[in-house]
Amino acid sequence: MSILCISDIHLSEARPSVTELFFKFLTREAEGVDELYILGDLFDSWIGDDENSQLAEDVKRNLARLSDTGTKLFLQHGNRDFLIGEKFLSRIKATLLDDYHLIEYKDHRLLLTHGDLLCTDDVDYQNFRKKVRKPLCQWFILGLPLFIRKRLANYWRKQSSKANVKKPSDIMEVNLGAVASVMDCNAATLLVHGHTHRPGRHGVDATEKERIVLGEWNAHGWAVSVSNDSAVLFKVKF
Ligand code: MN
Repeated sequence: MSILCISDIHLSEARPSVTELFFKFLTREAEGVDELYILGDLFDSWIGDDENSQLAEDVKRNLARLSDTGTKLFLQHGNRDFLIGEKFLSRIKATLLDDYHLIEYKDHRLLLTHGDLLCTDDVDYQNFRKKVRKPLCQWFILGLPLFIRKRLANYWRKQSSKANVKKPSDIMEVNLGAVASVMDCNAATLLVHGHTHRPGRHGVDATEKERIVLGEWNAHGWAVSVSNDSAVLFKVKF
């Protein structure tokens, strides 16, 4: 079995080179792989599946094409694109996963998550998350006209970067107690997540267990490749 995990591509019209690199990755690295897992924040913002920008169309076409080559696509919601819904998923033939998803292969138990749930020290964010993830709230947001949702997304983005500047940096890091506990609950040997934009590999509790953090896509991307006997974090370059 061969799988690839990516997250935090933050696709947006403002960064066409990231989009170009992402499409390159889909044909160059992802084709021929059994499964591709997108662990959230594929888009810098997603305000509903009626999003009809050129970027949205291009991304759908390229992901659908990858699906057609036989690579299975899986997606988790990130904090920027939690409004991705059935319409988008069926267009690209992807399966939506829960916030925590466990993959068992050979002796390994690989746990996947976006990562925002692990940042338990950021109480303001966790409260905001609880509110906006309620079905009733999402139903309400999705009922607003597209142009209002776009404004709302801009407003949230600005508020969140304003708030993040004021937050001490350790608040925006994962809580190691939360990491240990979620890995224990799932008896996971490896945890892969993104969200914090602090790519790296970390031991967990002085055990054999490991946590790999994906990075944000920028001048280059980040991916984790998992095969039967190894997990590798690597940079995706032009
Ligand atoms: Mn995120």
